[in-house]
Amino acid sequence: MIIQDDYIKFSIGKQKHIALIAHDTKKHELVEWVEKNKDILKSHFLCGTGTTARLIVDKTGLPVKAYNSGPLGGDQQIGCRIVEGNIDFVVFFWDPLASQPHDPDVKALLRICAVYDIPVANNRATADFLITSKFMNEVYERSVLNYNKIIQGRLEEFKK
Ligand code: PGA
Repeated sequence: MIIQDDYIKFSIGKQKHIALIAHDTKKHELVEWVEKNKDILKSHFLCGTGTTARLIVDKTGLPVKAYNSGPLGGDQQIGCRIVEGNIDFVVFFWDPLASQPHDPDVKALLRICAVYDIPVANNRATADFLITSKFMNEVYERSVLNYNKIIQGRLEEFKK
């Protein structure tokens, strides 16, 4: 039996699964932000793209699971974990003034964040607002389009 609601709720637990990513010109800023918010971030699960993750581990001592470096597919790995439901919060300081070899991957990751209703901070101000949100200490229900219903509709169209 397929659920007929247009949206399905997924819980972001009290303990968030946070991905940390920064382009080269923004790495310093992200490391500084993580250091400043270390007391909050230490209660959550952290991961990140290769270079960013290692820098954060070195500078802050927090455990951060490292995926591949961004240009080698790290953004895609993080997008994949979001689709699978294993990452539910993203801090991604991307560089608005430089093009990247992996720009299509960056766009894909931001799109997947929108599809899966993932809170995503693209700059320090947004990250400050997110980290001080009351939802950091609560379960939050995000809403994801019920794609099974859409697939069912599409299949019925093709059967006509
Ligand atoms: P990096 O990747 O952390 O390995 O530098 C980040 C990115 O460029 O998306």
